Amino acid sequence: MSVAPRTSADQLPQPPALYFDPDERSWATAADSASRFVPVPRLNGKLITDASALATMADDFGHLIHRTPLAWLRPGSTDDVVAMVCFARRHGIRLVGRGCGHTAFGQAQAEAGLIIDMRSLCQIHDMTPDQVRVDAGVIWRDLILATTAAGLTPPVLTDFTALTVGGTLSVGGVGGRSFRHGAQVDQVVELQVVTGRGELVTCSAEAHAGLFYGVLAGLGLCGILVQATLRLTPARQQARTYRFFYPDHTTLLADLRWLTTHPDIDYIRGNAIPVPAQSATPAGGPGSRRLRLQFFLEATVFYNDVEELAGLPDLDLPVAGDADQVEDRTYVAFTDQVVQLVNQLDAAGLGQLPHPWLDLFVPDSAVNLVSTQILTELDNTNFGPGSLLLFYPFSRETLRCPLFQIPNEPTCVLVDILRTIAPDPDLMADVVAQNRHLYEWVVGTGGQLYPIGAVPMDTRDWARHFGPLWQDLTRMKQEYDPDALLGAGLRVFG
Ligand SMILES: Cc1cc2nc3c(=O)[nH]c(=O)nc-3n(C[C@H](O)[C@H](O)[C@H](O)COP(=O)(O)OP(=O)(O)OC[C@H]3O[C@@H](n4cnc5c(N)ncnc54)[C@H](O)[C@@H]3O)c2cc1C
Repeated sequence: MSVAPRTSADQLPQPPALYFDPDERSWATAADSASRFVPVPRLNGKLITDASALATMADDFGHLIHRTPLAWLRPGSTDDVVAMVCFARRHGIRLVGRGCGHTAFGQAQAEAGLIIDMRSLCQIHDMTPDQVRVDAGVIWRDLILATTAAGLTPPVLTDFTALTVGGTLSVGGVGGRSFRHGAQVDQVVELQVVTGRGELVTCSAEAHAGLFYGVLAGLGLCGILVQATLRLTPARQQARTYRFFYPDHTTLLADLRWLTTHPDIDYIRGNAIPVPAQSATPAGGPGSRRLRLQFFLEATVFYNDVEELAGLPDLDLPVAGDADQVEDRTYVAFTDQVVQLVNQLDAAGLGQLPHPWLDLFVPDSAVNLVSTQILTELDNTNFGPGSLLLFYPFSRETLRCPLFQIPNEPTCVLVDILRTIAPDPDLMADVVAQNRHLYEWVVGTGGQLYPIGAVPMDTRDWARHFGPLWQDLTRMKQEYDPDALLGAGLRVFG
């Protein structure tokens, strides 16, 4: 099947010929007499260079880092990506692949570099009963609508699905099904990648495996991902969510562990949300900044027919006992719940506030202690309205992509501190510093960073992050991006 792209670069008006001045690092629409001007390749899409448009690319979901690029490519074809990577290489322009810009700390920005905005390449190509080939700019939400129409689904979805395929495959892509099926990067059959050399390579576990595993959770350091073939499984039509409430994180985590052993549960997520101010006196009395949180677990079972649920053994959890709430939705509505929540937060004006998120894989042996420490450090200033904590269980044996770094224990928990704060520069700096200190502390317990949030990192930190794989990554970088142009937003290699 073939689904028309949402945004077709073909429909953009044909721009005038563009020239680049390599000395001044600037653009011109007509070459003047100076011989140093070089023509930009003719493109099917568009190269955007005007300052106001570039300002929109000097931002991301975090609203903490602002780096203005030199240009913004909206490719109309893979050939455009190849042409502009070659052009950038000739002129030493740093590059970054970008999806929706939903990372939080400049990961998809490029100071004085070229942003390759993959959202204009968003076609869903051939679909079979067990796999689908998609452009990297396809939004997962659109893919779910297309696959569920055929009774199919990707086995692992992020909870928020308004993200590109290329964006989540560059970081890992995890959700409430990951405890069973690993990360989205574990469900990839084949990739098409434009390397930093400007070569288009098709790779898989069998062919060019080094590049394949260098791109999956590879933070865009070795190539621009242009196409992916993803595994599909049959989709159930309905989702029943059982909700259990807890007095604290320790009791929640005990039941979360137990649920991972229950064979009928398809999806698990732990939550902690601030109790709304009007329904609670601040925990430390009037004027206190202490938080009051509500802890709850969601366990979901997918099904077609309600009779299937009759065969489900009682969900009698060791701590919580029976579910406090039960909710039935269609599978599609279930996968869309966080998109709807984020839309509500945007409508309430919270979307434009800073989001200094922190996402940490914590070894099971340390998760109670780490959660206690996190809760001690949060207050209603550094964890403002719209913030929440999430807990996702993981099993190491389901995770196969080497660059997706997790603790060296059989099980771990992803603890997401998803916070929204006031746009006060001092507070923003304090919270980022707090993230850094919590990150250090968690690494000390054997934990790992999920690198989508707001933690300042330098090359030494990245070398520690990748551990024994650092040498391999450095070698791959030399092989596929010898001029170190890619991944400008992360500064992994300086
Ligand atoms: C509201 C919200 C909810 C989220 N929920 C989840 C969740 O449930 N699970 C989860 O795992 N994550 C979640 N995330 C994080 C999200 O998965 C990552 O931030 C993801 O990278 C964002 O995808 P994107 O398309 O916005 O990528 P971007 O932020 O644009 O890019 C992310 C990184 O990938 C690189 N990149 C992007 N596209 C390409 C490409 N085609 N080729 C090479 N490199 C590329 C960029 O350079 C950058 O380093 C959430 C984020 C938000 C804002």
